[in-house]
This record gives sequence, C-alpha cells and structure tokens, in this order.
Amino acid sequence: MSEGSRRWHSCDCPDCTVFIAADSEKDLLEAAVPHAVTVHGHQDNEERRKTLSTLFKVGASKP
Ligand SMILES: [Zn+2]
Repeated sequence: MSEGSRRWHSCDCPDCTVFIAADSEKDLLEAAVPHAVTVHGHQDNEERRKTLSTLFKVGASKP
C-alpha cells in the first residue's frame, strides 16, 4: 500500500476521553479491546468487539 492510499482507522472510547488510532481496523481493535478490558472492566468477547467496531471511523489522513 502506498502512503497516498493509506487510511487511518480511529475510535473515540465511549467510556472516557481516550482516542485510539491505527492504520488498520485489526490493529485498532487490538488496541481498543485491551483498553476497554483493563481500564473499564469490560469483557473481551464477540459482543464487545462488535460494539467497538461500530464506533470506528476511517479517515484519509492521520488523526
Ligand atoms: Zn476508555
């Protein structure tokens, strides 16, 4: 993938002011799930991952 076509995936934590960004949806989920679990005491399960995914946004430049 070239620099010009890179897409940044980002997520505002629904439970605090933390903002997470990564260059793939997979990496973003890998960062968002442990945050939700360790900071907010959520369960790491299919449901939680689905809920977090709905909050993901995609942008052309780094947020
Ligand atoms: Zn949070």
